[in-house]
Amino acid sequence: MKQIVLEHVTKSFTTKALGTVVAVDDFNLEIEKGECFSFLGPSGCGKTTTLRMIAGFEDLTKGSIYLGDKLVSDRDKNIYVPPEKRDLGMVFQAFAVWPHLNVFDNVAFPLKVKKLPKREIVEKVTQALKYCNLSGLEKEYPSNLSGGQQQRIALARSIVVNPDVLLLDEPLSNLDPHLRESMRFEIKRLQKQFGFTIIFVTHDQAEAMALSDRILVMDMGRIQQIGTPQELYRHPVNRFVHSFLGQSNFTNVIIKEGRVYPTGDENNAIYEDSLLPDSKAKVMATRPNSIELSKESGFPSTIVKRTFKTDFAEYLVKAGDETLLVQTPHRNIFNSGDRCFLRINNPAWYEPEDQKEKGERERRNTM
Ligand code: ADP
Ligand code: MG
Repeated sequence: MKQIVLEHVTKSFTTKALGTVVAVDDFNLEIEKGECFSFLGPSGCGKTTTLRMIAGFEDLTKGSIYLGDKLVSDRDKNIYVPPEKRDLGMVFQAFAVWPHLNVFDNVAFPLKVKKLPKREIVEKVTQALKYCNLSGLEKEYPSNLSGGQQQRIALARSIVVNPDVLLLDEPLSNLDPHLRESMRFEIKRLQKQFGFTIIFVTHDQAEAMALSDRILVMDMGRIQQIGTPQELYRHPVNRFVHSFLGQSNFTNVIIKEGRVYPTGDENNAIYEDSLLPDSKAKVMATRPNSIELSKESGFPSTIVKRTFKTDFAEYLVKAGDETLLVQTPHRNIFNSGDRCFLRINNPAWYEPEDQKEKGERERRNTM
C-alpha cells in the first residue's frame, strides 16, 4: 500500500540575493507503507523543502501530495491540509527539544495540544519514554542531558502520537559518530516495532546506506535516482550519483580504438574494451576497491603513498598525469616509490564535469 505519493511536486523561491531558485523540480515519487526511505544529497539540493511540503509547512508551487489515499496538498484544487491534521511525527535537526520544559512535558506536548485526558497522557508518555530508553529521566531538563538523550526526547515526542509516518530531517547530524550509530539502531528498532513509514533526510551517505530500504538521491532540486542502496552503489545512473555513494576515482582519459589512456600517457593503455567509442576527453570512474595491484602484469604504475587503514591498505598510485586511490586487502604489500601494475575492473564512463553545474551547486549550498 502506498503511504506517501508526490505528483509533479515543484517549489520555487524568489529572493533578492539569489533570484529564482527551483528548489524542488517536478518530483514524482511513491513511498510504500512501512518503508524507510531516505532523501540523500548535498546541502541546498532541496531535501528540507520537500519534507516541509510533505509535512504541510510549505505550500507547493505546482503538483499534489497524497498521504495514504487522502489528497493533502494540491495547488490547482486549492487543497491544503495543515500540518497538525496530517498525522505525522517529526524530528528536525534544529529546535529538537524545548529547554524550558522537562523531559516529560517535552514529550507530552503534542498530546496536550490534542487535549487528551491527563491519565491517557501519562500512559502514552511513559510508554514512549520507555521505548526510547529514557525512563527515570521524566523530571530532568534537557540541558542536563547528553546530546543523544536530547535527540531521543525529540524521537519520543514524535512517536508519542503514534503517527503513521515519521519525518526525520538530519536528526543525527549534531551527534558524535558513536552516538549516531547507536541512534540509527534505535530508529530501526522503533520502526520494526511499530511499522512506521519513515522519510529520513541526510547528506551522509553512510547513514542513508545503513538505514534505508530505498534512497532518493537528489541534486540541485532534481531527482537523480531512486533505488536500493545496492542498486545505487552498483549501477549509478550518472556521475553525480556515482560520486555521492561510496568512494570513486574520476580519471581523465583518452580513448582510441578501444584502448583507454590516462591523460599524460598515450603509450600505455590502462583499460581495453573494443566496444568503447573513440573520445578525446572522457572520464573513467572506478571504485578504489575494484582496482587490483600486482607485481607482474597490468598498467605500469608507481606507488605515490601508502596508508594503513584498519581493514585494508590504501594506496595513491600514478597513471600518466592522473592519481588513483586504491584499496586492497593487507596481503598485497607495496611501499611508497615501488613500481607496480594496475588492473581496472568494472569502470563506468562519464562526460567531463560541467563547470556551470558545479557553480550552481555551490550557489545553492546553504551551509
Ligand atoms: P537542503 O535541505 O537539501 O539543504 P533546502 O531544501 O533547505 O536544501 O534548500 C533548497 C534550496 O532552496 C536552496 O538553494 C535554498 O537556498 C532555497 N531555499 C530554501 N528555503 C528557502 C526560502 N524560504 N526562501 C528562499 N530560498 C529558500
Ligand atoms: Mg536541510
